[in-house]
Amino acid sequence: MYDIAIIGLGPAGATLARLLSPKYTVIALDRKTFGSDGFQKPCGGLLSSDAQKALAGFDMTLPKDVMVDPQIFAVKTIDLKSGLTRHYQRFYINLDRHKFDLWLESIIPHGVEVHSGSTCTAIQRTENGFTISYRENGREHTVQARYLVGADGANSIVRRTFYPHKKIRNYLSVQQWFPETHANPFYSCIFDPENTDCCSWSISKDKQFIFGGAFPKDHARERFENQKKKLEKLGFRFGEPLKTEACLVLRPSSMRDFCCGKNDVFLIGEAAGFISPSSLEGISSAINSALKLSQVLNSGKGRFNRKYRSKTFPIRLKLFFKVLKCPFMYQSFLRKLVMKSGLQTIKIIPSEAEKQMP
Ligand SMILES: Cc1cc2nc3c(=O)[nH]c(=O)nc-3n(C[C@H](O)[C@H](O)[C@H](O)COP(=O)(O)OP(=O)(O)OC[C@H]3O[C@@H](n4cnc5c(N)ncnc54)[C@H](O)[C@@H]3O)c2cc1C
Repeated sequence: MYDIAIIGLGPAGATLARLLSPKYTVIALDRKTFGSDGFQKPCGGLLSSDAQKALAGFDMTLPKDVMVDPQIFAVKTIDLKSGLTRHYQRFYINLDRHKFDLWLESIIPHGVEVHSGSTCTAIQRTENGFTISYRENGREHTVQARYLVGADGANSIVRRTFYPHKKIRNYLSVQQWFPETHANPFYSCIFDPENTDCCSWSISKDKQFIFGGAFPKDHARERFENQKKKLEKLGFRFGEPLKTEACLVLRPSSMRDFCCGKNDVFLIGEAAGFISPSSLEGISSAINSALKLSQVLNSGKGRFNRKYRSKTFPIRLKLFFKVLKCPFMYQSFLRKLVMKSGLQTIKIIPSEAEKQMP
């Protein structure tokens, strides 16, 4: 019998596991393994300034081998409907997402029992807590825990088991990796209402070019390929993909979409719906919600669920403001006005040699 079982060790689960008091016995399961094979979270791997601030709050620094080449200072925003392109300054850190996750996992204290390469397959509520079934090295195991934390991302088994009716708007995110062949690496954000009411992105990482987007689930792959064809006409170079990955991504549209958990079940990170609906940035909220839960549980004073819910109010409010920001990014007319205004844009000044290029 453990005090706490954490399902998932992405930024949310790994942060919680690191911060929980040693007075608790903790088991943490994650289907990732420490090598380069096995599950890797499909992600743009951009660490936003909010996520940097969350890490700074722990006085943490980032190891160099987690970062990739190059670091980029602006996002090229492309509106395929109006044909407008604008550059905006951004303060992201360009990361190897898998290495980032493994690094966060590597700094979990030894007192926490970490099971990498373990997939949680079922959870049942019992009289004294929860029975958790998981598969590790081809064998089935069960453990008991008093409290259960769902840190298992967009397709959370914890959320699906205990809150099957708490649906939240979601998309299929498709991402492909190519050898980088562009003369000048860039980061882009693409709006293409013909193929998706969400957005797409591209980013260069260590001589590879990633192109991905969030698409409605019907004909997602077809929409992705359609969009690639449109972008090729604008000079994007794709070629043969090195790998293709896909996963669900959540996109909250109201305060009701967030779900913090109840009756000794807690949801943190994207499992709770904590992801920005405007940019799909989710690492900062994953870390911040894990911090809030650790503070509540470490305080040792009951009514944990109620306290966690109230402590995450600022996170929910911040994400709700992003919901309000969405029309200015995703409604074609408003987006065109914003882009045409030139507000906060950067004027790109080509060198004389670049001007001569065809
Ligand atoms: C394509 C894409 C691009 C994105 N780009 C960015 C970006 O550039 N910057 C940014 O800030 N955010 C980005 N996001 C959002 C961000 O990735 C997530 O919001 C963030 O990772 C959420 O963290 P988390 O810890 O809550 O969940 P996750 O990072 O999803 O971690 C969940 C963990 O749970 C484990 N798990 C899941 N199910 C089980 C199970 N049954 N048993 C055991 N383990 C399980 C997984 O192995 C995983 O490690 C992107 C999302 C997508 C889909």
